[in-house]
Amino acid sequence: MAHELKVFMDSDIDKSKILNKKVAIIGYGSQGYGQSTNLKDSGVDVVVGVRPDGPSAKKAEAEGLKVMTIEDAVKWADLIQILIPDEVQAKVYEEKIKPNLRAGQYLMFAHGFNIHFKKIVPPADVNVLMVAPKGPGHTVRSEYLLGKGVPSLIAVYQDPSGDSKEVALAYASAIGAGRAGIYETTFKEETETDLFGEQAVLCGGLSALITAGFEVLVEAGYSPYMAYFECLHEMKLIVDLINQGGISDMRYSISNTAQWGDMIIGPRIITPTVKEEMKKVLAEIQSGKFADEWMAECASGMKKFKELAKQGEEHQIEVVGRELRSKFAWKDNDKIIDRNKN
Ligand code: NAD
Ligand code: MG
Repeated sequence: MAHELKVFMDSDIDKSKILNKKVAIIGYGSQGYGQSTNLKDSGVDVVVGVRPDGPSAKKAEAEGLKVMTIEDAVKWADLIQILIPDEVQAKVYEEKIKPNLRAGQYLMFAHGFNIHFKKIVPPADVNVLMVAPKGPGHTVRSEYLLGKGVPSLIAVYQDPSGDSKEVALAYASAIGAGRAGIYETTFKEETETDLFGEQAVLCGGLSALITAGFEVLVEAGYSPYMAYFECLHEMKLIVDLINQGGISDMRYSISNTAQWGDMIIGPRIITPTVKEEMKKVLAEIQSGKFADEWMAECASGMKKFKELAKQGEEHQIEVVGRELRSKFAWKDNDKIIDRNKN
């Protein structure tokens, strides 16, 4: 398969396609915060649609954003970006969004899950499109404030108005993505690769790798503090180098001893069996098995989700980490996330 690289930057984009629209951001969590504040600073007429009694309404108002109920925001808007958790989108769509939709509106998502797996099926006369930043919402904001941006994907699912791609590009530009690069994909490709990445490599693979390494050192009698620095703290320092210059730059910076160990031992840890398991994980994503199981877990009250999250938070690596991070002289001053505000 030949894949051609096509990137859109700010200079390729007609911003009037978003500057002439009323934009409703539904939900004020990680992405809702990042995208709505960037849109506002880019001069877009933006409103945040949230539950009036919920905690998000106060946070959004404190940022100087206009706030409405979800129903009113949908009625008011030309473009609606859905930024509530994937697992509640179908219910909120049926109850509060669908009854207020009209022909020609743009219904946007930041992840293809509900459209691709047909948990939401919008009417044919509404445009369905996606702008998906390839990074956390808080980073969408922090990078924008630095004059940078988070690379983002765009996709069009249905396009009765005929200009959904231009609208998606203009929206992506307004959240800062046109400084980093905007890439076109499909709902199917974005959904499946995103789920695979977070499960096998970024979140699932990484947390399991860090935790296993930590446990091996601690079980062998080494100090959990040493194990924390080796297996968790240093991860970011290594990943920063990889992020900026690829695996090659990381190897250029580490000692020859470290590089020899990297090249000779890495494949003994991530064995062909691990890769086979990754292929099974991908097949379960493609078949919809993962999506159905996750929806079932949500429908039954997220018992297992909460149990596993609690186990994770109580793990020794987290206890030790909280203690060690509290010693850093810079404390929390440079933290991107402030749970009281965003
Ligand atoms: P989140 O969990 O941070 O957002 C939750 C917000 O949604 C809450 O603050 C509240 O305002 C609202 N909300 C929650 N339950 C609600 C309900 N029942 N009714 C009405 N409002 C409700 O969500 P997020 O992580 O920003 O994800 C939003 C979308 O962006 C998802 O589709 C996700 O896949 C996608 N996405 C997220 C990230 C990320 O950085 N977290 C990255 C790329 C794409
Ligand atoms: Mg992702």
